[in-house]
Amino acid sequence: MVTDAATSRPADGGVCVGGTDDAVRAREAVAVVPDPEVPVLTIDDLGVLRQVEVDDDGRVEVVITPTYSGCPAMDTIEADIRSALVRAGFGDVSVRRVLSPAWTTDWMSEEGKRKLLEYGIAPPTPRGSGPVSLALSVRCPQCGSMNTEELSRFGSTACKALWLCRECREPFDYFKAH
Ligand SMILES: [Zn+2]
Repeated sequence: MVTDAATSRPADGGVCVGGTDDAVRAREAVAVVPDPEVPVLTIDDLGVLRQVEVDDDGRVEVVITPTYSGCPAMDTIEADIRSALVRAGFGDVSVRRVLSPAWTTDWMSEEGKRKLLEYGIAPPTPRGSGPVSLALSVRCPQCGSMNTEELSRFGSTACKALWLCRECREPFDYFKAH
């Protein structure tokens, strides 16, 4: 690889390190791809989207880290990434899945957690540093009460658990910390 030392690349901390206008445009196109299971969240909110690169020939490589293993949503996400990039004018697209380091709900953005809550799904609690992944208490997204209980480990999808609020008696989905 020969790089041209005379290019106007900023020395450090510049806005376009590792990116061109195309790379920015490609990332913007991909970042709005929704999660099929929780459509209010984008793959960017989830932290599934790791990297978008455009080479000199306009080929795009997108790196994603799947959420829960076996989540069928990943195939949908991959197809949506491709069509979003084609719509943005990129013809040559490859999507690479990187499994390590494994995705965790800690990668979800604060914006993503806020959107979940507005959608009526309790966002994942931080996993903390211990090995115990039990959620001790989950706040009801309807009334905010901590007086809740788990009804079923698996809610509408494997990624969510079904909880019940003892205060307002409303069942709700909890996006499981992982
Ligand atoms: Zn409630």
